[in-house]
Amino acid sequence: MTAILTAPGGRVTLKQGGGGRAMRTLIEKLFVRDFATMPLHNPNLSVGVGAMDDGAAIRIGDEWLVITTDSHVIHPIFFPGGDIGRLSICGTVNDLAMMGATTVLGLTCSVILEEGFALDSLEAIQRSMIAACREAGAPVVTGDTKVMGKRELDGIVINTCGIGLTRTLVRDNGLSLGDRIIVTGSIAEHGLAVMAKRHEIGIEGNLVSDVAPLNDLVASVLAGAPGAVTAMKDPTRGGVSSALHEMASKSGVGILIDERAIPVTAAVRAVGELLGIDPLHVANEGKALIGVRADAADRVLEILRAHPLGRHAAIIGTCVAERPGGVILNTGFGKRLLAEPEGEPLPRIC
Ligand code: MG
Repeated sequence: MTAILTAPGGRVTLKQGGGGRAMRTLIEKLFVRDFATMPLHNPNLSVGVGAMDDGAAIRIGDEWLVITTDSHVIHPIFFPGGDIGRLSICGTVNDLAMMGATTVLGLTCSVILEEGFALDSLEAIQRSMIAACREAGAPVVTGDTKVMGKRELDGIVINTCGIGLTRTLVRDNGLSLGDRIIVTGSIAEHGLAVMAKRHEIGIEGNLVSDVAPLNDLVASVLAGAPGAVTAMKDPTRGGVSSALHEMASKSGVGILIDERAIPVTAAVRAVGELLGIDPLHVANEGKALIGVRADAADRVLEILRAHPLGRHAAIIGTCVAERPGGVILNTGFGKRLLAEPEGEPLPRIC
């Protein structure tokens, strides 16, 4: 195999884990190129690694088995609103939900620990995982534990994998002209809460991570407005901007966003300004971007707002023919093209 990424001696950079263009290039040019073209073909594979969706889908009878996996390296491991345990359950449950698999058949949990890690912290993380599993109705069914030597790892890494079944497979590439874009609540709380904790920034008001399992919220939409949802993605690393760019380019439409319609709390606005970071580029862990048919948008909004996790849902945009693959921001004073982030501005955010 020939080198495809860099000259000999090149090294991985933090940006390549940042959820933006740099990470996508690494994944596309290395992993996807090889895995997606392997001759071991599964004829029932509906969504594979090449789709770079939230997970994979395998057709089984009249349903799809959805599989997803995620590793968690967040720093600090305890932050306002959650910890690495809650995050590792919710992140995987949400990736399943984004593909329509709102009933979780099982999760795996693989924990890698550094020698010397405090056992009371480990117990707190475990309790938090149990609580998140209960909230999501998602059982951990198997796992693995490894310990590495001191300084061979920074504390703890948790990998979870999830499997679910769905009759309504939702992709991130299904947007059509005229579809509306809904965000299920106020943005950027996870990334900025973690960053504020990491840098010990004192803040006025309440800035806590939004980390939460979205499967019940999504299930209520899919059941209450059948056929309304055309695409879905959770705006994690790279934030709303990265997720919208991905949805737009995969769907071949432009997305026109009304900036004033995006729910942003005063605390997020303040910390974003302090750190010089646009909330549109910051990770969420309890929000979804949902593409819906225009005639069903009000109904979906009503369903979302009736759910505790969707109270601040808002219609923020429309799919347009202009600038396919691009995101256009209507600021109220004019329109500008929103740049796709190179990577999440905040490393180790999930
Ligand atoms: Mg996702």
